[in-house]
This record gives sequence, structure tokens and C-alpha cells, in this order.
Amino acid sequence: MSAYDPNNIFAKILRGEIPCFKVYEDDKTLAFLDIMPRATGHTLVIPKAPARNILDIEAEDLAAVIRTARKIAVAAKAAFGADGITLNQYSEPAGGQEVFHLHVHVIPRHDGVPMKPAASIREDMGVLKANADKLAAALAG
Ligand code: 5GP
Repeated sequence: MSAYDPNNIFAKILRGEIPCFKVYEDDKTLAFLDIMPRATGHTLVIPKAPARNILDIEAEDLAAVIRTARKIAVAAKAAFGADGITLNQYSEPAGGQEVFHLHVHVIPRHDGVPMKPAASIREDMGVLKANADKLAAALAG
């Protein structure tokens, strides 16, 4: 496995070098919307600690990511009227990983609606902003 690359896109988001539609943050994790969502409200949860994927993350950092993923799942179900939630985590190219800072996808799902293909259609920025606000409000409430 390659070493962690501090210039990956999510590391840049963590450092504030590029923007994101943030929905939640605590001392160990950050959650923001995927810009090419597979469904409305598709959120990415990442650790603040540098970890490439499931193969090198510290157990405590992974536990924090999962705690946050659960918070997002509960809030997203309410915010978007979802019938269910899909969690995905990909590790290494063979596992489908494209960005090499560990992330868990939290994807709100509706009965009978298939997910769009991964990383395929860039969502309108206004739509992302509105969805981030809606999810952040559900998290705060
Ligand atoms: P994975 O590594 O799990 O295969 O996929 C990486 C995910 O990151 C994809 O769902 C893709 O849409 C998302 N993504 C790629 N670049 C950016 C970006 O600059 N900002 C955000 N918010 N998401 C991104």
C-alpha cells in the first residue's frame, strides 16, 4: 500500500485550501456533501487524522468516523424523507477508492430509486448549498 499523500483533495478540504459544503464537524471528524452525489444528500464523513483508508486508520479515528456517520444517517433520513441509508467505504484502487483519504459515504435512499453511478454527474452548486443547509439544520435540531 502507498503512503498517505497529504496533497489529496480531502486533505486540502481539511486544511481549508479548497471549499466544501460542510454539514458537521467535531474534534475528530468532518462531514460534507459529495459534489457528484449518487442520491440527494449524499455525504462524505472523513477523519481529521491522516489515514489513507481502512487498512491504516487507527481504531479510535475509525470509531469517531462511524459515530459521525450514524449522526448523519439519522439526520439525513429526516431531512430528505429517506426510506433507508446506504453506507459505502472503498479501500485501494482494487476496492474502488479514488480519493486516498479515508471516507465513508452516507447515502439517503428512497424505495425503488437506484443510486446514480459513482462520481458521474456534478450537482448544481445551489442545490448542494440548499441540501447542506437542510442537513445541517436537521443535525442541529
Ligand atoms: P471513492 O474514493 O470512495 O471511490 O470516491 C470519492 C468520492 O469523492 C466520489 O463520490 C466523488 O464524487 C467525491 N469527490 C471527488 N472530488 C470531490 C471534491 O472535490 N469535493 C467533494 N465534496 N467530493 C468529491
